[in-house]
Amino acid sequence: MALNLIMLGPPGAGKGTQAERFGRHRGIPKISTGDMLRESVKAGTEIGLRAKAIMDRGELVSDDVMIGIVEERLDKPDAQDGFILDGFPRTVAQAQALDRLMEGRDPLVVIDITVPEQELIRRLSSRVVCSDCGSNAEGVDPSQMKSTPCKKCGGALKQRSDDNEAVIRERLKVYRRDTQPLVDYYKARATFRSVFGAQPLDRVEEELSFAVAHATKHLNGGGR
Ligand code: AMP
Repeated sequence: MALNLIMLGPPGAGKGTQAERFGRHRGIPKISTGDMLRESVKAGTEIGLRAKAIMDRGELVSDDVMIGIVEERLDKPDAQDGFILDGFPRTVAQAQALDRLMEGRDPLVVIDITVPEQELIRRLSSRVVCSDCGSNAEGVDPSQMKSTPCKKCGGALKQRSDDNEAVIRERLKVYRRDTQPLVDYYKARATFRSVFGAQPLDRVEEELSFAVAHATKHLNGGGR
């Protein structure tokens, strides 16, 4: 059975970091809509140019654009044996569209990562990422980023343009308004699990693996 996993949770919950670790172990692609948009911005495509201003304000790119991007990505051969979606769906309309895209495929497993808001603000305002490969430079303080190369690719480190206090507050507001309702959308499903994300990375990874194993066992046992 293909593992079709989605990671819910607010910005800064650790979805990307956990999705990357988990995908590497399982040999399934991590599909991050934020990363895809940032690549489009870098490449200067039309979608990228339009998305940049929206992302810099902390708002959401339109459902139509996002659903189109994800539909195309899920059609690729490497996503046929499972995937981890990070950052999608972010609205009920996106979740409904994803359910339609999943017709004829194995059911979704949904993991919601919860983290208290104060901790999210602390994490996002001190987050350092690579300007080349986009990976998160865990443990590097912004004051040291200029003198520290990316551990993965040697690229220059930076802070994301939307990781400043005003935009962080807007993103959390948008999360509460548009994305948190997805917990209600999914929570009645037998494959929904919640994981507490304000713990050391390895511990979150362990609990995530356990939650996925538990949800999948249930699926194999015949539930939805
Ligand atoms: P992320 O890297 O997931 O924090 O996403 C960064 C930004 O990209 C968000 O603040 C949105 O502006 C945009 N974005 C990413 N995924 C979506 C999505 N599923 N729907 C709408 N906007 C998105």
